[in-house]
Amino acid sequence: MEIIKYSDEHKIFRQSLRKFFEKEVIPHVDEWEEAKMVPKEMWKKMGDQGFLCMDVPEEYGGLGADFLYSVIVAEELARTNHAGLAAPLHSDVVVPYITSFACEEVKKQYLPKCVSGEYVSAIGMTEPNAGSDLAGLKTTAVEDGDEIVINGQKTFISNGISCDLVVLAARDPKVENPHEALDLLVVPASAPGFEKGKQIKKIGWHSNDTAELYFSDCRIPKSHRLSTKGSGFMMMMQKLAQERLVCSIAAVATAEFALDITIEYCKERKAFGRPISKFQNTQFKLVEMATEVKLGRTFLDKLIVDHMEGENIIVDVAMAKFWTTEMARRVADQGLQLHGGYGYCDEYPISRIWRDVRVMSIFAGTNEIMKGIAAKFMGL
Ligand SMILES: Cc1cc2nc3c(=O)[nH]c(=O)nc-3n(C[C@H](O)[C@H](O)[C@H](O)COP(=O)(O)OP(=O)(O)OC[C@H]3O[C@@H](n4cnc5c(N)ncnc54)[C@H](O)[C@@H]3O)c2cc1C
Repeated sequence: MEIIKYSDEHKIFRQSLRKFFEKEVIPHVDEWEEAKMVPKEMWKKMGDQGFLCMDVPEEYGGLGADFLYSVIVAEELARTNHAGLAAPLHSDVVVPYITSFACEEVKKQYLPKCVSGEYVSAIGMTEPNAGSDLAGLKTTAVEDGDEIVINGQKTFISNGISCDLVVLAARDPKVENPHEALDLLVVPASAPGFEKGKQIKKIGWHSNDTAELYFSDCRIPKSHRLSTKGSGFMMMMQKLAQERLVCSIAAVATAEFALDITIEYCKERKAFGRPISKFQNTQFKLVEMATEVKLGRTFLDKLIVDHMEGENIIVDVAMAKFWTTEMARRVADQGLQLHGGYGYCDEYPISRIWRDVRVMSIFAGTNEIMKGIAAKFMGL
């Protein structure tokens, strides 16, 4: 029995998205991996087709669509086997902060551009000395008349070079309690004092521009503070569950893709006069992989439904985030092993999956932090 009921509209959307990716994305991935960047026009093309920020209300240019459209984008993107065109980060992680918490003027100013792909967004939380421990972040936001002045540094920011705006976490240095000190601010790349730093060299995720960002007396209008002063933590608590869910969706879809291409390879590759899929060890490994993928898919789909029904998924999504990302790593690793030496070569897609899947256990809250959250709610 299928847990998620996709409508005919959802199915048509998936088909047209897949066709678009086959034509506009997959043929260019190697080029983007080499360039360490996706061209900005790609975001526009996505926007033109209605593939960005689908949940944004129609009055701001969106479709007012349900979360299943986001699920479809994340799943189909996983099958393009690259990280550069990070549409779920833009549509389902960053922009929802603006949709939910910005004032009318800021929504009108930025949402239509985010929907159309004219603006690429990023989320700026992590700092050189504050990753897991967000309460320890040092970037400051101080009011000065009708403006807010920002000073500090962020690191590991996905879309860091290509972004046109950042939703930035910063603190009021005068407020001691970290849970009351944080603000989330919409900072356009054009704001005076905002500088993009160097692109960070990474072991994977090559087509995504991960960068450092600097703020030196950077000024934004006060209206660009989301919600009320000091409610940064409250907003993050509300939105981080969806970020972790999106990460799990990508993890399960990646594992499914890794399994599919490994099965295909094992049926074609011959050793000792027969396809390697005929060896009992290969069959057992593929069955183990398929079982893990199915467990992940079942857990995930139930969670997607719960999320759409507005249930509190904090604990389950923490469990799903750590388990599905580690499952995807195991599946990618076993898939690579079954490819033999070819699995270690760039030419074979399993090698990129293996490299790219590793970071999923680290970002969106490390897997250790996820287990800590679950432990707390279990009363341990
Ligand atoms: C490719 C990439 C893209 C990223 N994109 C973004 C982005 O767009 N925006 C953004 O803001 N950040 C982004 N990040 C940053 C990412 O979210 C952080 O790296 C992550 O939160 C961990 O922080 P840290 O690196 O400072 O590690 P640390 O917090 O220093 O952790 C180091 C180790 O200690 C463990 N640890 C820490 N605290 C505890 C604890 N209480 N209990 C048990 N173990 C603990 C961690 O689990 C980890 O294993 C990205 C990172 C990468 C690599």
